[in-house]
Formats: sequence, structure tokens, C-alpha cells
Amino acid sequence: MALVNEHFLKLPNNYLFADIAKKVNAFKTMHPKSDIISLGIGDVTQPLCPAVVEAIHHAADEMATQATFRGYGPEQGYDFLREAILKNDFLPRGIHLDINEIFINDGAKSDTGNIQELVRWDNSIGVTDPIYPVYIDSNVMIGRAGVVENGRWSNVLYMPCTAENGFIPQIPNKRVDIIYLCYPNNPTGTVLPKEELKKWVNYALKNDAIIFYDAAYEAYIQDDSIPHSIYEIRGARKCAIEFHSYSKTAGFTGVRCGYTVVPKDITASTLTGERIPLNHLWYRRQCTKFNGTSYLSQRAAQAIYTQEGKEQVKETISYYMRNAHKMKETLTKLGLEVYGGENAPYLWVKTPNGEGSWRFFEQMLYDAHVVCTPGVGFGPSGEGYIRLTAFGQQEKTDEALLRIENWLK
Ligand SMILES: *Cc1c(COP(=O)(O)O)cnc(C)c1O
Repeated sequence: MALVNEHFLKLPNNYLFADIAKKVNAFKTMHPKSDIISLGIGDVTQPLCPAVVEAIHHAADEMATQATFRGYGPEQGYDFLREAILKNDFLPRGIHLDINEIFINDGAKSDTGNIQELVRWDNSIGVTDPIYPVYIDSNVMIGRAGVVENGRWSNVLYMPCTAENGFIPQIPNKRVDIIYLCYPNNPTGTVLPKEELKKWVNYALKNDAIIFYDAAYEAYIQDDSIPHSIYEIRGARKCAIEFHSYSKTAGFTGVRCGYTVVPKDITASTLTGERIPLNHLWYRRQCTKFNGTSYLSQRAAQAIYTQEGKEQVKETISYYMRNAHKMKETLTKLGLEVYGGENAPYLWVKTPNGEGSWRFFEQMLYDAHVVCTPGVGFGPSGEGYIRLTAFGQQEKTDEALLRIENWLK
């Protein structure tokens, strides 16, 4: 008899976005002629930039010729991309990494979910709340999260991020082994100033903890004082693993490419106190379970670092940030409390009169025909908020704002 991994059975039955789709479909069935605009999607809408498209065409031609065809590539990625990453994402910020500390991934989701395999099942974890669901769910699957009670996992320390604390998570007053941080943050769209991030690095160093740092939205930072990488903080090489993705940076959600940084200085302990470097463990893990990101995707990513690529990617980010600014301005004018949206493509909006997230979601759907994401879907501290995304087409976003204006006025 094959026994199932029962930890999977503890997972919430439904994925948040499936629940939303169900409610939207119910509305559509009742109102077949209605035209709904979604500000709930976490996916990009603008096409790949010309530099990237050209690189993919060129790579496809190479694959079509015997002399330039490529089969399996290195599991940790091609040097042409890893070198471009070192030179463009880190050196200009004074961060010196070794090429073997960069692991090209097929998007950050896989690696943020898989990285926890490197640490024992009984480590404790701490997460900011609300949070990108992958961090907790991947720990649930291996049995590390414990059991769920009132929407909270027993072995997870929740660090609330709300309007009351300015969305700055408080340093725990007890030891946690693993901490997940995501900045700029999904879902709140808020950022962590350098002095706050410093506190986390110092906490990790002092408590011999590890930080998993998700920098998927780093390219949206507009304020020069906000750190783009945790390695801008002294000592982070000893305690942090960082995840990057080209999904939101350059519209790669369908192309699939990003990278993970595992510094050679970061170690975890055996029960007898021996220090084990995680860089080598991750390399070993990747060689066993991963055969690399496609050559086409890696050439596409390399093109982002050319002069044209950089300019074109910036233009698309400005396109989305125009949405973000317009949304923030309009909603604030309507008297709503709006957070984020300045260094991230997300806005986090407090529901008026303390209404529940799902109730406000339904009102907005039924009265304005606009879809948002209920904040409570991202964790208990998300109750009383909704998330809006700036990833829509500008015309649609403008139309959605008009509808919200007419509804709330
Ligand atoms: C979108 C997103 C990612 C990127 O996922 P990919 O697998 O690279 O597409 C990672 N982390 C967060 C928080 C995200 O919202």
C-alpha cells in the first residue's frame, strides 16, 4: 500500500484565485452582458520588449543549425547570463558575488518553494502577514507548518504588517530559524527602508537564523534610498538567500526565467554543530532535480541587460507605474486609505467602515463591475484590506477607476 504524504491534505482546499474566479463566474452567469475589468490579476499584460524578442528569434535560429544547436545546458545556468547578472544587478551597487553563487531558475516561484528542502523539517519559520502564499504552503507540504487553527499555522510565527505599524514588521522577541521577507512586498506594495532591513540582517546573524529574501519586484523601486538587494546590507552574505525573477521585471511570466543567489558564506548547522555551506547543497540539489532553464529563456534574459533592453524594460515599468500613480491618486481623492503603489505595482486599500475583505470585493464586483483581490486571502492581517494591481492596460485601468469613482461618489 502506497501511503500518501498527508501533509498535503492539510493545505486549504482552494487556491485564492480559484475562489475569486468562482465568484466572478457566478456574477457573469447572472449578468451575461456585463463587462468586468479585473484589477485583481497578478500577471503582466504588456508584450515582451523588442530586444528580448530579437534575442529569442536569434536563439531559435541557433537551435535550428547543427553547428550552434544546444542540448542540456549547465544546471546552474549559462555563464553569459550569470556574468550579465553580476555586472548589472550587483557590481553597480557595490556587491561582489562569485559567479557560482548565482543559480539561474525557471522563475522565482519554484525556488522560493524548493529552497526549504535544505533545512530540517523541524525548523521554525516566521513570515510577514499578509504574505505571498507559496512560502507557507511549501512548508506545509513537508510538515513544517504544523496544524491550522483559525487560519493560522501552529508552527509559523506571523509578523503583522498593517497600517497601524506602517507595514514595518516587528523583529520577533523570540528565536526563529527561517524568515521569509519579500520587498517590495506582494501583496501590500510597501517597501522596507535600509535601516529596517539592517535590523533583520542583524537579527539573523545574532540568532543564527536564515533569511529567504524575495526581490521579485526590485525593478519597480523608484526611491533611490530603498535597497534593491539584501546584500546591500553588511553581513547578509552570511545569512540570506535572495530570489530574483524576470517575470514582473520584463514580462517573463510566460517565458520563465530568474535567478537565486546562494552565497558561499551562508551555512546551516548539523545537530552536532558542524557548519554546512548551503551553496554546495543547493548545487547538489539542483543537479539532481533540475536540468536548467531553456537556452531560449536565458538568451532572452541576457537581452534585458543590453542598452536597448534596459531602456525598453524601464519603459514598460513606467507604463505600469503610471497606472499605480493614477490609481493611488484617484482612490485617495475618494477618501480611501491607500498604501503601496509607489515602489511596487500593487496598491493595498483599507476597506471603508471596517468592512470585511470579501464583502468589499463583492460590492465592488456587483456595483462597479471591477475585480480586486480580498486581502484576507493573503493572511489573517490582510482582513479589512483589498489588493489592486497596476498590471492592467492603461485604458482598462482608467475605465475601472471611473467606475469606482461613480460607485463611491
Ligand atoms: C510574481 C512573483 C514571483 C515570481 O514568480 P515567477 O515564478 O518568477 O513567475 C515571486 N515572488 C512573488 C512574491 C511574486 O509575486
